[in-house]
Amino acid sequence: MDATKRIPEPKTLQEAITYFADPDRCFEFAKKLRWPDGNVICPRCSAAKNSFIKTRKLWFCYACKRQFTLKVKTIMEDSPITLDKWMTAFWLLANAKNGISSHELGRAIGVTQTTAWFMLQRIREVMKNRSFGPTKIGGEGNEVEVDETFVGGKVKNMHRARRVRFAAEEGFVGAATGKTIVQGILDRNLRKVRAAVVPNVTREVLQNEILKNVKFGSKVYTDNAVAYDNGMQRRFVHDVVN
Ligand SMILES: [Zn+2]
Repeated sequence: MDATKRIPEPKTLQEAITYFADPDRCFEFAKKLRWPDGNVICPRCSAAKNSFIKTRKLWFCYACKRQFTLKVKTIMEDSPITLDKWMTAFWLLANAKNGISSHELGRAIGVTQTTAWFMLQRIREVMKNRSFGPTKIGGEGNEVEVDETFVGGKVKNMHRARRVRFAAEEGFVGAATGKTIVQGILDRNLRKVRAAVVPNVTREVLQNEILKNVKFGSKVYTDNAVAYDNGMQRRFVHDVVN
């Protein structure tokens, strides 16, 4: 049963702290915040097919064969701050009528003022963009350019320990070639760039990156017609440049 339905949502700060102290309830709350429609999407490859490993509260993606947690590719990913503190902070910020200072937040959830300030910055960004992950670029009528660059030697020159970690983190499979593939996406209007290391240049991988980073209605220019063909037309206005 849905853990969030067992008790009503908190109304006071004290209730919120108690509410999020329950790991299951906290998890369900965060899950709803991240995937409001209930469809859990892989944060790395955007595939929708996965299985949930209940005991460890993580998912296994059938497409990229990797596991992901709620925190992967969100503002919470690189912080040791626990999920209950993040959710209490979200709740506080959403419910505080007159705003909340980093001092107040720090005291409420038991972190330093500096940490609280860091959390507030990120949560405000999420609320403004209505998105947990990085914000999309492009938009109605914007021109977006996409290309892939093979960066030679980059991975090879890394210290071995770092290389192994890099491979594990990025799902890097191009070790045999010694090249790293970087897909760059430029919004010509906003002059904003997104760059991501991709494991290969298959249609699925490249299109998923675009779907993750570019808003619908953008004019997408690519030099790789094959990889971006098939289906892209329906979502974006698509042109090929060489
Ligand atoms: Zn995946």
